[in-house]
Amino acid sequence: MEFIRTEHIYKTYPNGIRANIDVNLVVKKGEIHSIVGENGAGKSTLMKILYGMEKPDSGKIFIEGKERQIASPREAIKEGIGLVHQEFMLFSQLSVAENVVMGNEPHGLFKFDTQKSIKAVEKLCKKNKFFLDPNAKVKDLSVGEKQKIEILKLLYKNARLLIFDEPTSVLTPQEIEEFFKTLKVLADSGHTIIFITHKIGEVFHISNRISVMKKGKLIKTVLREEITPEELVEIMFGQQYQIQEKTQTKREKMKDLVLFSVKNLTFFDENKRKLLDNVSLTVKTGEIVAITGVEGNGQKELIEIISGITQNRIGKIYFNSFVINNLSTRKRREIGMRIIPAERTTEGVCEGGTILDNLISDKYFNKMFSYYGILNIKNIIKFVFEKMKTYEIKATGPYTLVGELSGGNIQRVVIAREIDKKMNFLIAAYPTRGLDVNSALYVHKNLINLKKQNIGILLFSADLDELFSISDRIGVMYRGRLIGPFLKEKISTKKVGELMMGIGVENEYSLKN
Ligand code: ADP
Repeated sequence: MEFIRTEHIYKTYPNGIRANIDVNLVVKKGEIHSIVGENGAGKSTLMKILYGMEKPDSGKIFIEGKERQIASPREAIKEGIGLVHQEFMLFSQLSVAENVVMGNEPHGLFKFDTQKSIKAVEKLCKKNKFFLDPNAKVKDLSVGEKQKIEILKLLYKNARLLIFDEPTSVLTPQEIEEFFKTLKVLADSGHTIIFITHKIGEVFHISNRISVMKKGKLIKTVLREEITPEELVEIMFGQQYQIQEKTQTKREKMKDLVLFSVKNLTFFDENKRKLLDNVSLTVKTGEIVAITGVEGNGQKELIEIISGITQNRIGKIYFNSFVINNLSTRKRREIGMRIIPAERTTEGVCEGGTILDNLISDKYFNKMFSYYGILNIKNIIKFVFEKMKTYEIKATGPYTLVGELSGGNIQRVVIAREIDKKMNFLIAAYPTRGLDVNSALYVHKNLINLKKQNIGILLFSADLDELFSISDRIGVMYRGRLIGPFLKEKISTKKVGELMMGIGVENEYSLKN
């Protein structure tokens, strides 16, 4: 049965931006319904309309089959609709119970019956498995606990639909796990949940159904089981995918072959400290293997050894079953290895150079670009323009200095240069670190696209959501050891978090060795 339905919702802001265009959303009773989409897709606007904070230009809202006008948040609450904002609205000097019942006491703001309100909050906590002390002062609580108070405030007002706008961006991995449990408890007791997010991993973790918004329109609603993360990203980004898929076909035959492997790699620094301890891993064609860990547990050394910057003698590195320990970085490039380096401004690009310089720095000696030492400027410009278009590098032209670009655009230059027809293995070191949401999603889209072309990817990342949304297997580095990689489906974020802190490492390690 449906709880809420919108019909033909339109909203144009005074500045002319069409934030919602003919939005028809159906959310069923008791379901967890995720709404995903790029920044600016219109998700928050739609939620504000449901919560009475914005008025639609036209369109209808039905609650349990009956048409309703929702002119203010107060009216929304009356209809059983509650919204948890990204920023909490709590009084930090007051207790949990006081915050929860505030504004709902018939006798005015502070004259309420304290015992009664504590009892009511205790009851709600028990029902929803919240471990909160009603007497605790808000100022002493964690972010996760404060979020629970916001939920309690709505439950106390009998909200039946709870809308969460990007609720996990402020939480730690452990708190996110708990938050998801809360959502399940709420849904099991008949509450309906709308969950706004741009994190694909979370969407697959929690939702019953998923709606995608794009440029103001709600373009698709699907059951979670009906779709893979890759397909969802494809729907979110549509067209650009089609452009790049043309190059895909010829690689299709070579699936699931071991492309790259490291066996028993151990590395000591000049002070004889063991920074890598017997590391082994494989990456197959069409596979994204991710490695995470708290910084300083050997990731940097592993990246440097694999890419050929640091040489090492204990252990072996194989590429297409050839040992490549002694190959230079340049030779490794020639056989198809590529790298998106961790430090994009110092290692990824030459900031003093133009986009053109950077894009052809490793190619100018190709016949297409130079002939007997004379550069073919026409071909070069054509090539650079094409790359800029394909990789959406936003700049006035090929002669813009890379140092003047935003982080997201610099990363696009790196990707545009590294991705070419000869590549078959990519080391992506923290490719979205410090990027805005859109640029990060853009990088993800490219990595998934490469995977589809059967390229193997070794991804280093500290972003748990990134790990769970795009990788196939996940390994954790702790004190030079690599735990896993485990199939993504076989490991939880909680477990990854624990391994990062060293909890349970000995167990896993003795199982493996
Ligand atoms: P999302 O939540 O998916 O990121 P929003 O609903 O916040 O998207 O925004 C949709 C579009 O409407 C964006 O282009 C945004 O800049 C614009 N927008 C949002 N709020 C306002 C506002 N109050 N006034 C003008 N434009 C707005």
